[in-house]
Amino acid sequence: MLRTPLLIAARSTACRNLVERAPVTRGLVSRFVAGTTLEQALPAVRELTRTRLVTLDHLGEDVADAAQAQATVAAYGRLLAELDAAGLAGRAEVSVKLSAVGQSLPADGEKIALDNARRICEAAADAGTTVTLDMEDHTTTDSTLSVLRELRVDFPWAGAVLQAYLRRTEADCRDLSGAGSRVRLCKGAYDEPASVAFRERAEVDRSYIRCMRVLMRGEGYPMIATHDPRIISIAGRLAQDGGRAPGDHEYQMLYGIRDAEQRRLAARGERMRVYVPYGDEWYGYFMRRLAERPANVAFFLRSLATR
Ligand code: FAD
Repeated sequence: MLRTPLLIAARSTACRNLVERAPVTRGLVSRFVAGTTLEQALPAVRELTRTRLVTLDHLGEDVADAAQAQATVAAYGRLLAELDAAGLAGRAEVSVKLSAVGQSLPADGEKIALDNARRICEAAADAGTTVTLDMEDHTTTDSTLSVLRELRVDFPWAGAVLQAYLRRTEADCRDLSGAGSRVRLCKGAYDEPASVAFRERAEVDRSYIRCMRVLMRGEGYPMIATHDPRIISIAGRLAQDGGRAPGDHEYQMLYGIRDAEQRRLAARGERMRVYVPYGDEWYGYFMRRLAERPANVAFFLRSLATR
């Protein structure tokens, strides 16, 4: 019931001002975000990479001008150089939102985003690691997949995210199940209309399983991004049925969520990657995490009330 208003609030400047100024917010944000600077996030990355893999997200989305998009590219350049220098690039890659590198700019947004994403891929190649393009709302899916196709000509390891709640996704999984393709499958975090998306939880879960079956039977590298225990156990069975070994697919979860399960999967010999966001543009990311779980909202409201 709270999901839709929270996701609308995630895009509201007035709500953003309110939430960012609430004194309790910082403590809660730190549960989901590894730090507001790279220096703060690196110790968490170092610790996680002892047992798990990591993908780092320099937080930010929907930049308003080309200068901000350039600043995002520079931040990823610095991040990748630091990962390389710290000897972490073998176990940590980066995740990029195309709207943070210009996709939503009114003139030539897609071309600007492609050029900028290409520069980030070049920096990743220099560091010896990979890039995955996050997926945003459904109005950007075609453009993001088109940028992915272009990037893969020079960087065949570039990966993308597909969202099981979109009706189109099973077909997209088929298109992206070929050799060398890296696909992160998630349920989807935005508020989408019924015309393009399944709205019921059970429908989304069924779609997730269909999509996972396509990816597991394919020749690519499936990245199963979910905290849902039932889906994780079905993934294990599908991987076995498809004759997959632990090294040719991976599980992914978000920083701060189901840490014990992350450790359990890693200890079982699975490739387990943690999505680690950092930076001061945490508002949209934080609100999507609240929207996913009513208990998070209750915790947030209780903290406000008890101050
Ligand atoms: P759910 O059914 O939502 O949750 C299953 C269980 O997981 C819950 O019962 C609870 O125990 C736990 N859980 C789930 N969410 C939370 C939370 N916020 N706080 C505490 N516990 C929780 N979405 C996109 O649209 N685009 C992306 O690019 C994208 N990238 C992602 C990358 C990774 C690595 C992951 C794990 C998710 C990503 N998502 C992305 C978010 C995703 O779409 C879902 O919104 C999110 O993962 C919650 O769905 P779930 O599969 O965990 O299942």
